[in-house]
Amino acid sequence: MVTDSHNHTKHFSVDAGQTIDELIAQAREGGFTRIGITEHYEVDYPDDGLDWTFDLNAYNEAFKGWKTKAGPDLELLMGIEFGYQTHVAEEIDRLATLIPFDEVLLSVHLFRGKDFYVDRECYQLPKKELHKEYIGTMAEMCEKCSNYDIAAHYDYINRYTDNLNNFVLYEDCPKEFDRFFEALISKGKALEINTKSIQKHKERGFSMTLPDPAVLNRYREMGGKMITLGSDSHFPGTFAVCFNEAVEYLKSLGFKESVYFKDHKPYTEPL
Ligand SMILES: [Zn+2]
Ligand SMILES: [Zn+2]
Repeated sequence: MVTDSHNHTKHFSVDAGQTIDELIAQAREGGFTRIGITEHYEVDYPDDGLDWTFDLNAYNEAFKGWKTKAGPDLELLMGIEFGYQTHVAEEIDRLATLIPFDEVLLSVHLFRGKDFYVDRECYQLPKKELHKEYIGTMAEMCEKCSNYDIAAHYDYINRYTDNLNNFVLYEDCPKEFDRFFEALISKGKALEINTKSIQKHKERGFSMTLPDPAVLNRYREMGGKMITLGSDSHFPGTFAVCFNEAVEYLKSLGFKESVYFKDHKPYTEPL
C-alpha cells in the first residue's frame, strides 16, 4: 500500500476542517497502514487575519497521543509543510530541526508575496512567464534549504487559475525544471505527486488532469527516483483522493516505486 504522505488536521492547520479521529478513520477504512500528517506552517505570511504558525512543542506532544490513538496497525508519520519565501529560507531550516519530524515538506504558496488563492493578479501574466517564475522559485527553495525531505505540489500555481488550459508543462520552462530537479536529486530529496491537484483539475474541467508526462519523464531521465504521493487532505472525504489513478499513471510512465520518509530517511514501497 502506497503511503499518503501529505495530510492536514484542524488541530494545527488553520485552513483544515478534519479532526485527527476523522483522518485516522478514513485511513483505516481505506486499508492504509501508514500516513503522514503535515500541518501548515508559514513564516512571515501576508496578514489575512489567520495564524499560519503553531507551537512546535505542543504539536510534538499532541502527536504522541495521536500515535497511541492510531494504535499499532496504523503508523503516523509526524510531518510539517513549510511555506517558502526567499527571505525565510534560513528560518525554515532552523525550525525543521527543533522537533523530531519524520518528514518535512516545502511548498510555494505565494507569488511575489501574494496568495494567488485570493489574489488573482499573477494570472494576468503570460502562462510561460508565470510558470517560469513559479518553478524558478521551487528550484531556489530546493537549492537554498537543506533540512527538508519533499518538494510539494509543483503544480500548485495552476490549481486556482481561471484559464483551464493553463497547465504546468515541462516545455513552459525546461531550464527551471532542470534546476529544480538537479537540486532535488543531488540532495536526495523527493518530488511529490499531489493528488489533490488531480482532483481539482478534474472537478474544474481542466483540459489535462494528470501531471505532464514530460515533467515526470525528465525527472526520471535526470536520475530522479524518489516520488511521494500526497492527497493534501484538509476535510473528511478527501484522504487519498485519486490515489489509484495516480499510481496507475506513474506505472504507465515506468515508475516502479514510491517512497515515504521516517526520521528523514526514505523507504521505498512498490507502486
Ligand atoms: Zn500546500
Ligand atoms: Zn498541504
